[in-house]
Amino acid sequence: MNAIKATGLRRSYGDNEVLKGVDLNVQRGTVFSLLGANGAGKTTAVKILSTLIRAHGGSASVAGHDVANDPDAVRAAIGVTGQFSAVDNLMTGRENLKLMADLHHLGKVAGKRRAEQLLEQFDLVDAADKSASTYSGGMRRRLDLAMTLVGSPQVIFLDEPTTGLDPRSRRTMWQIVRELVASGVTIFLTTQYLEEADELADRIAVLDHGKIVAEGTADELKRRIPGGHVLLQFTDPRHLDAALRIVRNASRDGEALALRVPSDGSVSSLKTLLDRLDENSVLVDSLSTHTPDLDDVFLALTGNPDKVVQS
Ligand code: ATP
Repeated sequence: MNAIKATGLRRSYGDNEVLKGVDLNVQRGTVFSLLGANGAGKTTAVKILSTLIRAHGGSASVAGHDVANDPDAVRAAIGVTGQFSAVDNLMTGRENLKLMADLHHLGKVAGKRRAEQLLEQFDLVDAADKSASTYSGGMRRRLDLAMTLVGSPQVIFLDEPTTGLDPRSRRTMWQIVRELVASGVTIFLTTQYLEEADELADRIAVLDHGKIVAEGTADELKRRIPGGHVLLQFTDPRHLDAALRIVRNASRDGEALALRVPSDGSVSSLKTLLDRLDENSVLVDSLSTHTPDLDDVFLALTGNPDKVVQS
């Protein structure tokens, strides 16, 4: 079953048509990541799917409920952890969780139990009775997500969950996300860290100029763009010129004394290349290999010409 389904979503702000017919299908119990440049419309899509604003066209359902016709049912089934924390700094971690439990009408006993469970799960037991104002960024994010989970949502919208966190705290968040997914929760993730989408997402969609321009697994997207190459660095321009003549499809890398040679990065292709250079007495100073990553996919698909890798 699809946890999220959107067909032809449209939304404008004045003359600015932000979403121009967006289709999304997110399977239950998976992580789906929506990528796009700043201003591409990711937050607008999340706002529509989480019933904060209405679409101007198209339709969408979340957890089986239509966002336009049954927003209350959608709200009951989702959690949203945005870039702006819902944590109240004047309260302790435990008090924040209990407040959420009250808002969800869990009742005193069940609410207390849920709060304790989440403090444990999110490694916040020691800090539970400290004011949230004293929490580090990572602790605050964990508390924020724990608060989202008080209502046991089926679908969670995570808007840039690890922005500003150190590498260890990011990994802790990733682990938490993986555990949530393993328990059947669906995650709709927006992130500016492509590495994060690569790590977590089962499927990734790239939003550009209001449309989904590519969708697939990280590997599928990487295969869609050319870009694997070897970079040969020279100290002597004469050797660079010689290499340019003998290596097929080699091209100069800007102004640098370097050549790009399309390659899959395999040992056999590197050996063939180096043998050929050696046979022709071409001296190469250093060599590095480059396989396309999600950064390349993103840059290639969202039309930033600066870093698009040529085939
Ligand atoms: P970011 O990565 O910077 O968060 P985003 O992909 O989430 O960007 P949105 O926040 O959805 O993008 O914004 C898409 C476009 O819609 C932008 O051009 C933005 O200026 C515009 N926009 C968003 N909200 C409003 C609003 N309330 N009124 C007018 N324009 C808006």
